[in-house]
Amino acid sequence: MSNSEHIETQLIHAGEPRPRIEGAATIPIFQSTVFEHRDGADYHGAIYPRLNNLPNHHAMHAKLAALEGGEAALVTASGMAAISSAMLTALGAGGHLLLQEGVYGGTHTFVTEHLPKLGHSFDFIDCNDGADADTGTAAWKAKLRPNTRAIYVETMSNPMLQVSDHRAVVAFAKEHGLIAIIDNTFASPVNFRPIENGYDVVVHSCTKYMNGHSDLVAGCVVGGAERVEEIRHTLNHFGGSIDPLGCFLLQRGLKTLALRVRAQNQNALAVARHLAAHDAVSKVIHPGLPEHPHHARAKELFDGFGGMLSFELSAGAGAAERFSASVALITHAPSLGGPETLVTRPVTTSHVGMPRAERERLGITDGLMRVSIGFEHVDDITADIDQAIRRALG
Ligand code: PLP
Repeated sequence: MSNSEHIETQLIHAGEPRPRIEGAATIPIFQSTVFEHRDGADYHGAIYPRLNNLPNHHAMHAKLAALEGGEAALVTASGMAAISSAMLTALGAGGHLLLQEGVYGGTHTFVTEHLPKLGHSFDFIDCNDGADADTGTAAWKAKLRPNTRAIYVETMSNPMLQVSDHRAVVAFAKEHGLIAIIDNTFASPVNFRPIENGYDVVVHSCTKYMNGHSDLVAGCVVGGAERVEEIRHTLNHFGGSIDPLGCFLLQRGLKTLALRVRAQNQNALAVARHLAAHDAVSKVIHPGLPEHPHHARAKELFDGFGGMLSFELSAGAGAAERFSASVALITHAPSLGGPETLVTRPVTTSHVGMPRAERERLGITDGLMRVSIGFEHVDDITADIDQAIRRALG
């Protein structure tokens, strides 16, 4: 499969076994933990699911590498397995990490609680504006240490959907010899391709858009062949490998990624505009809206603005709670990226562990609601939002 194929074609054909196994159009699930030694292979050549070397893993790796434009990829048992393996490998012994503030809660806890116990250190940085001396690269530079090895950001922050200054992050990493790692979960390679933009390592929670059906926990790492091999070595021993059924489900889910994400991009923009025009709504956050502080950057870097949005009702936090209880078509639930539209209040879910002062500094108020837009008909989504607002206010 050539890397010049369009992403729609890669999603379907990249990494699929050729010749087809027994002519099967989809890769069979190699549900075996034991494989006989063949062709003089010794113990080190053994096929074993934890070592990520079943035919299902190989097929998945080739597809993921093609989609993100990397030399190699590694599929993992969860997004956190991908993130922790990539970070631990990059940090080596006693490393220091620069980390975007406001990252996903699991990543935040891994870095703040686990990395120090393992002899690593970290500093948070504001990635919103690399050109600004107060919040940008001058401030990042002041936090550099001789043992700083990596810089870690997310494509868009959750739930404020701020788009990091990716050009500045990549330039800074190159200037200071840091490994630039990005969590591209919120965009997916349909909307943003970090490796083309200079990042070294891309991680995903494939639990979200990549699989896209709310029925699988998985993750992946994509990057240069040598680096991915090092990360695989770490993952093999920490044990976060995915089983062959998980590989198969992800392989199947990925085939429709472009169709799904484009539908979600379109629905999210329409719902954001609908909310922005609603009298009861005081704030709408979506990078596709011209008033979003990073709209111009998103337009320049992305092929689509994504399926996530956040909003506040002018009636405050009590109304937000009533809204969440009043949705009927929409599900009140955390997570994102599936077919169904979900609403959650970050202060009660993803950001419950963050101190209030920190949350408020980031704009995560008690009344903020985050929506993962699905691919139901957009008129049905807006109709449900409107009835839930009426009930929340009534
Ligand atoms: N990264 C982001 C942006 C996420 O939203 C999540 C989960 O919500 C993760 C990583 C962790 O992924 P997983 O739950 O698959 O381990």
